[in-house]
Amino acid sequence: MGNKNNFAKLHELAKLLGGGVGATRPVVYAGWADHSALVGQAGKHIKPKILFSFGISGAIQHTAGLGEADFIVAINKNPQATMMKLADVGIVADASDVLNTFIKELKKRIRE
Ligand SMILES: Cc1cc2nc3c(=O)[nH]c(=O)nc-3n(C[C@H](O)[C@H](O)[C@H](O)COP(=O)(O)OP(=O)(O)OC[C@H]3O[C@@H](n4cnc5c(N)ncnc54)[C@H](O)[C@@H]3O)c2cc1C
Repeated sequence: MGNKNNFAKLHELAKLLGGGVGATRPVVYAGWADHSALVGQAGKHIKPKILFSFGISGAIQHTAGLGEADFIVAINKNPQATMMKLADVGIVADASDVLNTFIKELKKRIRE
């Protein structure tokens, strides 16, 4: 997500969707998320109906926590990223651009 402010916007999306925000280890180490949000080998194992993976490479230590996800949408600027190969839908784009558009569109539809 590039920086702490961009990462924080994930909470806005999660609130709109009734979900939660998980994180990878670099994000936790950078102080953008609490350790309790860590997903993977050293963190939580999650079982979401749908997982949106914004700018995540797909390292085995992270994906070890995703075994139970029903449907994965990955957003990554690198189409070769492992996470894109694991995803049901992959979007090759800037993560923040997709996040901002997604939030805007959801808010619009909620208002309608
Ligand atoms: C013993 C051990 C235990 C570990 N346990 C865990 C664990 O429990 N959980 C965990 O997550 N990690 C764990 N790790 C770390 C793990 O190996 C990876 O380093 C980590 O998961 C990578 O996190 P990342 O995908 O966020 O970052 P990166 O590997 O840096 O990947 C960033 C990804 O974002 C993409 N990207 C960059 N900028 C943009 C943009 N603007 N728009 C779209 N895409 C973009 C890149 O193409 C890349 O794919 C562990 C490591 C070790 C050695």
